[in-house]
Amino acid sequence: MRVIVTGGAGFIGSAVCRLLVRDKKCEVLNLDKLTYAADLRTLDSVAGLPNYRFCKEDICDKQAVTKIFEEFKPTAVMHLAAESHVDRSIDGPAAFVETNIVGTFTLLEVARAYFDALPEAEKSAFRFHHISTDEVYGSLGDDGLFTEETAYAPSSPYSASKASSDHLVSAWHHTYGLPVVISNCSNNYGPYQFPEKLIPLMILNALHGKKLPVYGKGLNTRDWLHVEDHAEALFTILTKGKVGQKYNVGGCNEVKNIDVVRAIFETVKALVPEHVARSFEDAVSYVSDRPGHDWRYAIDPSKMQKELDWTPKYSFDTGLRQTVQWYVDNRSWWEPILNNKYNGDRLGEAVSVSND
Ligand code: NAD
Repeated sequence: MRVIVTGGAGFIGSAVCRLLVRDKKCEVLNLDKLTYAADLRTLDSVAGLPNYRFCKEDICDKQAVTKIFEEFKPTAVMHLAAESHVDRSIDGPAAFVETNIVGTFTLLEVARAYFDALPEAEKSAFRFHHISTDEVYGSLGDDGLFTEETAYAPSSPYSASKASSDHLVSAWHHTYGLPVVISNCSNNYGPYQFPEKLIPLMILNALHGKKLPVYGKGLNTRDWLHVEDHAEALFTILTKGKVGQKYNVGGCNEVKNIDVVRAIFETVKALVPEHVARSFEDAVSYVSDRPGHDWRYAIDPSKMQKELDWTPKYSFDTGLRQTVQWYVDNRSWWEPILNNKYNGDRLGEAVSVSND
């Protein structure tokens, strides 16, 4: 397979590139604009291999993307490039509309022209895999699960932009016959996650003896999946999924935010006790809630399990322990990020109206 991975220098995209290049022996072209969230060091283990190449481009640049398709001649596209942080979407939604909606539209148009010109024999193998989030479904109450039939009801600028892109991808299948698959995954965690996201932020704060800021009362619930399990699920969907179908991906690991933070604190304390002298109650600080904070997400992954025979390998306990250990062992990865890109400050309080 010859796969264009967009957003391959990001958290999930880099896990996908490592899996495809090293384990699945695919030819991979990583197309990434290198925003603040990107880090090419995540790809050190594949950068020198003959079946991997990198192109620094913006998915909104139609000419550049067309040239990449013409030269690389992909048999598949895995589209992960996006602005991905809800809090940043509250502070500055314009970039989310630009990349997640206009960028996806641009990529779809390039893929459609490329697909239409393929010989008939190659058309049946071609796939456009759009990687999306369960946040498009909005918020659950205390009961129920998201299925592939759940109606879309996004609440944040991020989830609204991802919902828009899902609808565009679906329309390009129904209207133009582009062979697409869409997957909607729950919250990911694991090595190389940018420290603006809950789990790495709390690990690094705990390691530095800083306060652990929890939104609201910490009772909102998320359904966690290790990034390597997500990458395997994406490869399974790409190779075994049915054209035009959606697949929900989740690990059945529902945890309240406060319990995630407590588990991180206890794990850091067990691994590096010299860093953590206080009790959890001393370390935690309850801060103002995220505006429009969805209450609960939870995925019903039975379609993935029954139709594609996929199950995750990590439990939340083993995955979290592995992740904390990785951050403890890889200070050289995150220290420059904290010093140069993001110092852990609060984002997304919606205190002023953005004019960009
Ligand atoms: P990330 O923010 O870590 O990485 C995004 C990557 O996209 C970065 O490398 C960035 O440089 C690149 N990018 C951004 N704008 C671009 C543009 N205009 N052109 C080319 N490249 C561009 O994101 P992530 O957490 O790895 O998420 C990847 C995808 O998975 C996203 O589409 C996201 O919506 C989806 N997703 C994420 C999660 C999660 O928990 N992180 C869960 C479900 C779905």
